[in-house]
Amino acid sequence: MEKADKLTPIDSPTNLKDSYNRIARKLRISLTDKCNMKCIYCMPTGNIKWINNKEILNFTEITRIVSILSELGITKIRLTGGEPLLRPSLDALIRDLIKIENIETISMTTNGFLLEENINQLKLAGLNSLNISLDTFKEERFRTLNGISNLNKVLRGIRKARELGIKIKINTVIIRDWNDDEIINFVKFARNMDLTVRFIEFMPLDGSGIWNYNLVMSKREIIKIIESNFQNVITLDKTNYSASDPATIYNFEDKIGKIGFISSITEPFCSKCDRIRLTSDGRLLNCLFEKEGYDLKQMIRNTKATDQELRKYIIKCYKMKPEGIIELIRINHLRPTLNLMHTIGG
Ligand code: SAM
Ligand code: SF4
Repeated sequence: MEKADKLTPIDSPTNLKDSYNRIARKLRISLTDKCNMKCIYCMPTGNIKWINNKEILNFTEITRIVSILSELGITKIRLTGGEPLLRPSLDALIRDLIKIENIETISMTTNGFLLEENINQLKLAGLNSLNISLDTFKEERFRTLNGISNLNKVLRGIRKARELGIKIKINTVIIRDWNDDEIINFVKFARNMDLTVRFIEFMPLDGSGIWNYNLVMSKREIIKIIESNFQNVITLDKTNYSASDPATIYNFEDKIGKIGFISSITEPFCSKCDRIRLTSDGRLLNCLFEKEGYDLKQMIRNTKATDQELRKYIIKCYKMKPEGIIELIRINHLRPTLNLMHTIGG
């Protein structure tokens, strides 16, 4: 039987279901809080307090938690960080995760810097798809926005992953007056490479404290810019529409290249959220905007909890999933640094 045929029924009593009736299907695992980049919209400036390596979950602990979550209805895994490619022997982890019953896909979000030297092994291990972050095509701006040199190395990684036939999406955070003059170049890139570029609205998850509402380039503004530059009118991609996908995807008339929008600020999608997160230090986070989360590592290492105890605890914690950013917007509570993206994994 194929893995996809063995899914937990949609509304099985063993599913994770919160008080807003949302069911968790996807898990994002942050493998480290460390990074080889220092993106202006993510990392704190100055001295960063890194999580001590001893506090980071090892692969056995991660695999155990994923096994339990898979029994509770999780079917899709995304590896993220910090920068996941900084974690040695990632291929071994992918091999273990893909063996877990009910797990259908393993994807990864990466800044792409270490991709060219690692992608072969990751593909062999079973990695299904990649989201690669890219915010500029200008070397000097790359240094300012992403805090590192050698943009070409990232571009080589993208090309290599493409050549290997891995499904790729590009994640682009557009910040007003920082890189909004490159929107058209990103659209051309999507069309030249025939792939999807997803524009992500800047969220107040910045360590640097620069976030303010005026810096957010909304989906609506970006669509206007694209439509005034391309004769090929863009239309919603209904074939690719998935109720739980945070991105809305648009096609061009000639169907070459796709553009997506993750409009967390101007069109929040909390009501259809089906994600939970595991931080690198072993906390379960129900939402990007939940600060402390629920300490599974403590239960595993200190209280030596059984699988049954962990399962019960996770079900209880998931019921407390907050409504999400939509609530913060409603009560006018968006402020910089609401949480630190590099510790949670986007
Ligand atoms: N290091 C990897 C990377 O950059 O792709 C994975 C971790 S990163 C935290 C995951 C995603 O979050 C990236 O696509 C990044 O652009 C996005 N991101 C980080 N900070 C953000 C913010 N304040 N607002 C919106 N997206 C953000
Ligand atoms: Fe690192 Fe990714 Fe954050 Fe940039 S967005 S600093 S690459 S974790």
